[in-house]
Amino acid sequence: MNFSVTILGSSSATPTARRNPSAQILNAGGKMFLIDCGEGTQMQLRRFRIRFQKIHHIFISHLHGDHYLGLMGLLQTMHLFGKTSVVNIYGQENLKPIILEQLKYTEGYIKYELVFNKVSYDEVSRIYEDDKITVDSFPLDHGIDCTGYLFKEKKTDRKLNKPKSDHYGLSIEDIVNVKRGQDFITKDGETIPNDELTIDSRTPRAYAYCSDTAFKEDLIPIVKGVDLLYHESTFMQEHAERAKMTKHSTASEAAEIAKRAEVSKLVLGHFSARYKDLTPLLNEAKDVFENSVLATDGAVFEVK
Ligand SMILES: [Zn+2]
Ligand SMILES: [Zn+2]
Repeated sequence: MNFSVTILGSSSATPTARRNPSAQILNAGGKMFLIDCGEGTQMQLRRFRIRFQKIHHIFISHLHGDHYLGLMGLLQTMHLFGKTSVVNIYGQENLKPIILEQLKYTEGYIKYELVFNKVSYDEVSRIYEDDKITVDSFPLDHGIDCTGYLFKEKKTDRKLNKPKSDHYGLSIEDIVNVKRGQDFITKDGETIPNDELTIDSRTPRAYAYCSDTAFKEDLIPIVKGVDLLYHESTFMQEHAERAKMTKHSTASEAAEIAKRAEVSKLVLGHFSARYKDLTPLLNEAKDVFENSVLATDGAVFEVK
């Protein structure tokens, strides 16, 4: 299954000439999940050739403008492009009146159905599930209601050991059963253990999106062992006081979470516009967690 993240925006509060505010697309087996929707997200989708009509689920971390101000425009464009299928939006409950009031006062109209799903700010909760992935929301520490999102691949059936299956003459029905983990009983009543007939499928992959947050130790068990972790890193260590005051993280704090959670790779993002060159920020993270990279608009990261 294709499992990858495209960065649509990597700037914090204000955009720069090269960086849009927060937005990302997670591609999970061809299904497109939009994560945050800063201003200009629809332009970025066009630029990076991602089809709007494939987006049916939008996850908003919180209601600071740099994470949701692109939503109204995107929803309207989907309407103009003739969308008819349901669009699910996950986020803070005030998102619903924010969108509906704009439509009301402008006598706007959206012909497809919009479903608003409120997330919890107290605990980790399952908010989405299909045959391939699950999505959990989890609380962050940012002064206003804010959540991260954890996307996990589901474990697939075990793989058939073909020579063994041929040897014992398994029928199609037997094959389905052993792939699900059952043992096989021959005509003579002999039990062939499942692990002789099948090979374990690969470990499910996971991606965690930690949006705006102060350093939060509670995140470590939640994102433990994920293949790819995005963690905001608005500031460098010299601005650690500012980070604390505004409930953001420094690059080394993001790396500290990555290290202690033993993730495979860390993507840093949500950079303050004050930094023209991000190499020193990256180096601060690498001092703590070597496999750190910078998000850049348009970059694609495989979850592996
Ligand atoms: Zn932000
Ligand atoms: Zn924020």
